[in-house]
Amino acid sequence: MHLPVSTVPATSPNDFVAEHVRGIPRSGIRDFFEIVQSMSDVISLGIGEPDFVTPWHIREAAIYALERGKTGYTSNLGLLRLREAIAEYVSTTYHVSYDPTTEVLVTVGVSEALDLALRAILNPGDEVLYHEPCYVSYSPSIALAHGRAVAISTREADEFKLRPAALKAAITPKSKVLLLNFPTNPTGAVLTARELEEIAAICREHNLLVITDEIYSELSYAEPHTSIASLPGMRERTIFLHGFSKAFAMTGFRIGYACAPAPLIDAMMRIHQYGILCAPIISQEAALEALRHGHNDMLEMREHYRKRRNFLLYAFREMGLPCFEPRGAFYLFVGIKPTGKSSHDFAMGLLKQEQVAVVPGTAFGASGEGYIRCSYATALEQLEIAAPRIARFVGKL
Ligand code: PMP
Repeated sequence: MHLPVSTVPATSPNDFVAEHVRGIPRSGIRDFFEIVQSMSDVISLGIGEPDFVTPWHIREAAIYALERGKTGYTSNLGLLRLREAIAEYVSTTYHVSYDPTTEVLVTVGVSEALDLALRAILNPGDEVLYHEPCYVSYSPSIALAHGRAVAISTREADEFKLRPAALKAAITPKSKVLLLNFPTNPTGAVLTARELEEIAAICREHNLLVITDEIYSELSYAEPHTSIASLPGMRERTIFLHGFSKAFAMTGFRIGYACAPAPLIDAMMRIHQYGILCAPIISQEAALEALRHGHNDMLEMREHYRKRRNFLLYAFREMGLPCFEPRGAFYLFVGIKPTGKSSHDFAMGLLKQEQVAVVPGTAFGASGEGYIRCSYATALEQLEIAAPRIARFVGKL
């Protein structure tokens, strides 16, 4: 028998949404780019992905995999051949060894790997410390895993580095994880081996687990990159995340990986096997080709980024907006305080008046106020058109 409709409590579809999801804001970048998409003749310095198409031999490996009928599931952990290649690459590049049979998990990008790591580790209310400005997904991903996001502000005067004193000051008895991302999206900051050692010592002293997102590590322009996982006593308390999106221009393949001690990978794998099953086999075959034969392509793209970075740095200096020289990734985080405008108003004004899209710094956390992020994963010819437009806008303010 059905209840009369009038006795069913009134509800709206919104009431069905879980409370911790209701609190998650929409991405500031998404909202901004919906406006960009409705306009024509816009030069975008906003997108955080390489403008290069995936190198041909990597695409060919994917096509060849399809031709050979590779269309099924793989092991939940990923193809063993790929995990072996990842372990070898991580060992030679980052100087830390993982067992490909138990300590490497192939994921759907670093995005999935980060989500798995947080969900595998956090009990409700555990605190995750991270340096800010930071990648837009960190705070929501922590909240979705029922953790508490604790942002530690970094400053341009410190080259946006995470300072040991700031880390220490943020630690409480509930602190469980330190989430690192060097080179950093959106600032291009890096930490030297010596600076990482100081951070590592604090993590050991306070028994923190480190999740390190090293997706931009190949795109380091100054000193060679050091991974915190390679420092003494850190391998056992670190989850190393990496992927193919940036260095090999493979964002659409959605492929990445996590390396960590076996019990942590096993915990992540138990979530992955029920939620995802495995990363797409075609992307896994392409990733294998990238590791085997993609090194020179990566070096070539990095040289393009370096030239573009230098061009933009000089252009902003000429406009009277000298900015911190990024040591890695492909972003310039430009201070616009001298213009007297907020990040949002600057970005909106530049878009409307000069059709150049940049991202307001506040999309990367409150400490991004007074800055805009410009991506130089954009062709030099486009940057050459954008720079005088920005200069004209700044001159008019
Ligand atoms: N981490 C950082 C710092 C990023 O900037 C991005 C992408 N913009 C990701 C992770 C996500 O990478 P993936 O494509 O591997 O999911």
